[in-house]
Amino acid sequence: MTDRYAVIGNPISHSKSPQIHKLFAEQTGQDISYEAIAAPLDGFAATVERLRKEGYKGCNVTVPFKFEAFKYAQLNLSDRAQVAKAVNTLKFNDETVLGDNTDGAGLVADIERNFCFVLQGKRTLLMGAGGAAWGVALPLMEKGTHITIVNRTEDKAFELAVFLQRSIFTNHTIQRNTPTFSKGYSELAGKQFDLIINATSAGLTDSEIPLPSGIFAPGALAYDMMYGRETPFMKFAREHGAQVADGLGMLVEQAAEAFYIWRGVRPETAPVIAALRT
Ligand code: NDP
Repeated sequence: MTDRYAVIGNPISHSKSPQIHKLFAEQTGQDISYEAIAAPLDGFAATVERLRKEGYKGCNVTVPFKFEAFKYAQLNLSDRAQVAKAVNTLKFNDETVLGDNTDGAGLVADIERNFCFVLQGKRTLLMGAGGAAWGVALPLMEKGTHITIVNRTEDKAFELAVFLQRSIFTNHTIQRNTPTFSKGYSELAGKQFDLIINATSAGLTDSEIPLPSGIFAPGALAYDMMYGRETPFMKFAREHGAQVADGLGMLVEQAAEAFYIWRGVRPETAPVIAALRT
């Protein structure tokens, strides 16, 4: 019998996840279906309950429900979901629901495998302190990067930096590269980074992020988690000589990690990324 999966969000019609999982299923010979479901803004938990009753095996969760999914799976969270305080993958077992977060693994896989960029020892600027930044910060540190966090609202960057500093002492997989926090974009003048990750949603409104012009070190990678169009950050990076990446690879890699959690099979991501780009 075909196992059913879905992605829940609001809005959801733009989601590429059904296409990605269809390609994974064809490639690996797994008998699954995968659909996009729009839940009412006040109806996330009810939608998950319905899917469970109907025999679905799991779902992905996207904006704006990742925190609600975290609360829903409170009794059975993976370590990385607990750290991210957000869940993007639910696996339904008979009585229990596992909550996981595959965003960080997806970003790291895209940067290291698809862009052949070694994270170890690199100076990384992480812009943003929302759900996406929390999800990727620790996995990046586990790879030995030196992270600086900057955010429009300073307090939130500070909170994330403090959390990361504490994590160094409780999590042995993190190398002891103390995270730094920048009081604001204007404080970045005169500094250089090998990797700059845009984990803000500024691109959604075509807003520019006020970065100083000398911020990219030679050979730097500028990574925008957004995909589908060139953001002002990507344009700025290109004009200042950086290699530019969008978030499509991360999207496919985090989906592959979710597929693995559900099916125990790891799909090849490169042909799926290539298919989506065409
Ligand atoms: P949140 O709403 O949780 O956080 C948004 C962040 O962006 C905040 O830090 C906010 O700062 C900052 N921000 C918003 N507007 C601006 C601006 N004009 N200038 C500077 N900073 C700004 O969103 P998420 O963290 O969930 O998502 C962030 C982005 O990452 C989205 O574009 C999302 O699509 C993308 N994403 C991509 C994924 C992928 O697989 N490719 C996976 C997950 C997310 P402040 O605190 O000051 O409000």
